[in-house]
Amino acid sequence: MSRQTVYWGEKRYHSLDYYLKNRFGQKLYKLSLNGGMTCPNRDGTLGTRGCIFCSQGGSGDFAANPSLPITEQIDTAKKQVDKKYFGSAYIAYFQAYTNTYAPCKTLRKIFTSAINHPDIHVLSVATRPDCIDDEVLSLLDELNRIKPVWIELGLQSIHERTARFIRRGYDLTVFENAVSILRKHGIEVITHVILGLPTEEERHMLDTIRYLNTMDIQGIKLQLLHILKNTDLASLYEQQRFPVLSMEDYLKITGQCIANLRPDIVVHRLTGDGPRSLLLAPSWSSDKRRVLNQMQAYLKQNDIWQGKEFKK
Ligand code: SF4
Repeated sequence: MSRQTVYWGEKRYHSLDYYLKNRFGQKLYKLSLNGGMTCPNRDGTLGTRGCIFCSQGGSGDFAANPSLPITEQIDTAKKQVDKKYFGSAYIAYFQAYTNTYAPCKTLRKIFTSAINHPDIHVLSVATRPDCIDDEVLSLLDELNRIKPVWIELGLQSIHERTARFIRRGYDLTVFENAVSILRKHGIEVITHVILGLPTEEERHMLDTIRYLNTMDIQGIKLQLLHILKNTDLASLYEQQRFPVLSMEDYLKITGQCIANLRPDIVVHRLTGDGPRSLLLAPSWSSDKRRVLNQMQAYLKQNDIWQGKEFKK
């Protein structure tokens, strides 16, 4: 593929901003909402300690106060971003914990409030692939007919050894089935991948990318491993001081992931997503703006673009 055949604005990858402007004619801003869920990996169903990297906030530390009704959460979250975003189109993002892990009646109430809000253009729901049963699927299908529904699945890696290390609690086939049933209903799937887990080298991360190229997914979040305070990963790090990625390694690995990624897959994230106050390592990643600028410069200097190395 030549560079001339692919172009995503100023970026060398299919960025979320580019995708949103193309599809909705404008940038949409994400509002982190909170449905007050828990997770089978935390409530004792599968485990009590969660995934090894998961913070007390259930990997959704910026989410709104769950005791408020959803419409109020939306209005509060809008006020919080009104100094940096001047538009009026938003994504209702349910990020914390497992957002399909509640009775369907509860989910219907929460998601319907969000999707019916006039300023909400997309409903984005982070969940686990083992928490999408027929009833939930039918609800998501119904909502997807009102406005686009995106389902975010935290796969992190395709490797069994890593899945055991992070205590993910489901097999790869469960992920495959979830993608397949969601796609049958035309629901877009975004997959989370963690780069820099101590069980993996660059080749393992690239295996995950190449595998995802074969799956019917529409988006990806490439997330640098953040070691957050008060997690089991933090305790392990304090005991063992296992190596974490340097910025140089991260640029190189992420560059390779982008080069190998199918060009139509939208890149929703290229950095970590933990709050600075909880970040233990790698400390360089706290300056997100700098990391993203370095990433653009690295891709340009090395003439890398999304799909450059992608083979069907
Ligand atoms: S599945 Fe998500 S919310 Fe549950 S423990 Fe793992 S990272 Fe945390």
